[in-house]
Amino acid sequence: MTEQQLIAFFQDLHRHPELGYEETRTTQKVRQALEQAGIDLLPSGLRTGLIAVIRGKKPGKTIGLRADMDALPVQEETGLPYASEEKGKMHACGHDFHTTCMLGAALLLKERENELAGTVKIVFQPGEELSDGGGGKFLAASPALADVQEYYAGHTYPGFPAGTLGIKEGPVMAAPDTFTVRILGKGAHAGNPHLGIDPIPAAATLTLSLQTLITRNKDAFEPAVLSVTHLQAGTTWNVVPEEALLEGTLRTLREDLRLRLRQQLEAMAHSIAQAHGCQALVSFTVGPPPVINDAALCAAARETALRLGFRVDRQDNTMGGEDFSEYLAYAPGAFIRIGTGGGFPNHHPRFTADPAALPGAARFFAELALERAGSK
Ligand SMILES: [Zn+2]
Ligand SMILES: [Zn+2]
Repeated sequence: MTEQQLIAFFQDLHRHPELGYEETRTTQKVRQALEQAGIDLLPSGLRTGLIAVIRGKKPGKTIGLRADMDALPVQEETGLPYASEEKGKMHACGHDFHTTCMLGAALLLKERENELAGTVKIVFQPGEELSDGGGGKFLAASPALADVQEYYAGHTYPGFPAGTLGIKEGPVMAAPDTFTVRILGKGAHAGNPHLGIDPIPAAATLTLSLQTLITRNKDAFEPAVLSVTHLQAGTTWNVVPEEALLEGTLRTLREDLRLRLRQQLEAMAHSIAQAHGCQALVSFTVGPPPVINDAALCAAARETALRLGFRVDRQDNTMGGEDFSEYLAYAPGAFIRIGTGGGFPNHHPRFTADPAALPGAARFFAELALERAGSK
């Protein structure tokens, strides 16, 4: 595939975004391109998504490259000539870029398979944007990937222009958990609140008090975010409702803090509900772990990037989540930010990823995999 063809492939995926676990067209397009190049596929166990493998002629390590494939339920407002043709769906996180980038890397590696010592497995993962343990958790445990010794993934980043990569060791993305608290009271006429148990004061108190978990209960140098994002009670002005609902997200970079804040949130919900004569039902959806980059692998990636002429910047931590961390439970790896310019953040209806960054990014991941597979 020429650079122009690679860019055209990306623009085609951008026109036809598919949500998590619905990536059938994307899977078919990638499969077609891989098969045309004579690249073997391994069983993934999923209806969408693929695992490709390139085996070198000499022995070496097994390296995993991972791309995600799914889009978001966002109505695109970029005005690009290749904007989404699917109403209410958009590649607003650049997963079309990631898929094309790793396809490009696979094609380059296939061309250079005589040089390759070791094996490279390229994972095209469905369902990254889903809150409840998407494709990453499933694929990371796949027997087809059991021998992978190092994982690498890239992510579009509007903060850098094309030609810049963000590489940093340590934690880079948060563990995004979600919580739901139902506060159960007792309905009544709003003129006689003493005959019921009003869940609204309890919900209001809890919403404000939860912030003290962040400001009063942990070290100020330990990042954590708690956002109540959905607060609901009642249906009209003259009825004390039966219950109130709080939903939100709790995000941390360390497992011990994650667990402690989760326990404190639960304890606070129960005690505040009880203080108001209500009952609290608390549930959590545990998201993927935080993404923690391996220092030695980041150093290797930095070296490759500089040698290929990239500008290498550090990357800021973000409290966003990424299920690339599921793979890191099995082998060390590095999550690298790819400068794709634009100026609008990921998930924004006007998010864009500069196609000019694509050929370079594909070359970088091919080169990195080639070097790491042959490294001692
Ligand atoms: Zn995203
Ligand atoms: Zn993403």
